[in-house]
Amino acid sequence: MSVTTENLAPLPSGPVRSSMRRQGILFIISAPSGTGKTTLCKQVVANIPDLWHSISCTTRKPRPGEEHGREYFFTEEATFQGMIDRHEFAEWARVYGHLYGTPRKSLTDKLDQGIDVLLEIDVQGALQVKKKFDDAVSIFIVPPSMTALRTRLQARASDSSEEIQRRLQKVTEEVWHYREYAYIVRNDDLGRSLRELENIFLAERLKTARMDTAWIEANFLLTDESKSGDRRDHP
Ligand code: ADP
Ligand code: 5GP
Repeated sequence: MSVTTENLAPLPSGPVRSSMRRQGILFIISAPSGTGKTTLCKQVVANIPDLWHSISCTTRKPRPGEEHGREYFFTEEATFQGMIDRHEFAEWARVYGHLYGTPRKSLTDKLDQGIDVLLEIDVQGALQVKKKFDDAVSIFIVPPSMTALRTRLQARASDSSEEIQRRLQKVTEEVWHYREYAYIVRNDDLGRSLRELENIFLAERLKTARMDTAWIEANFLLTDESKSGDRRDHP
């Protein structure tokens, strides 16, 4: 007999969850600008299968090498405002003088399809998302020092010195929020930080509560007796 929702008797511990479609896991990554989160996130998405990197909208201008629809949807302020008014963002915030937002529909569609989603967003956005999705997994990436951060922002050579100054001025305010994140990764050695991040993603996927356990039930628990509803052998 094949295993279907209809022919599964509930286990002693409660209703059988495995018959439900697995909901995707929502991962949030934040870090002060220049820490290396984009570098790390690109690698994580390349290395971890079935993880979708959400693409945000922003009113910031593209940096050299950035493409509309790849790094961001580059959007005019009026268009962005219209999207706010129509509640098209799961969260949005003004960061370093520009507007950034996570499109809501693509995010919820992926989660409903059981696909894990990665949001690379600032602290204000992370706090909004945590309120709406209480089982989201939040990770804060910290640079090894202020000096290293300044060096990275300058070496990236993508922002003017005024813009770099503006980003450095926000670091303390952002780092104050580290306790609101479930995990902290120090991005000193890139390879080690990447391994640490990947371990978080993999461990979260292995949590019992998140897993599709139908195969355990089908292989070990659905004996002929349990299928016929006889549960006397179970505690
Ligand atoms: P963010 O997305 O956090 O603003 P980026 O990923 O753009 O930061 O990285 C900023 C700069 O720092 C880039 O030039 C990147 O190559 C460099 N970088 C990232 N991680 C490290 C690291 N662990 N050690 C040294 N440089 C790094
Ligand atoms: P950057 O201009 O360096 O690409 O990003 C600046 C900051 O905006 C980073 O902290 C980045 O994580 C954040 N950010 C990017 N997309 C979003 C978003 O959709 N929402 C929010 N709240 N922040 C975002």
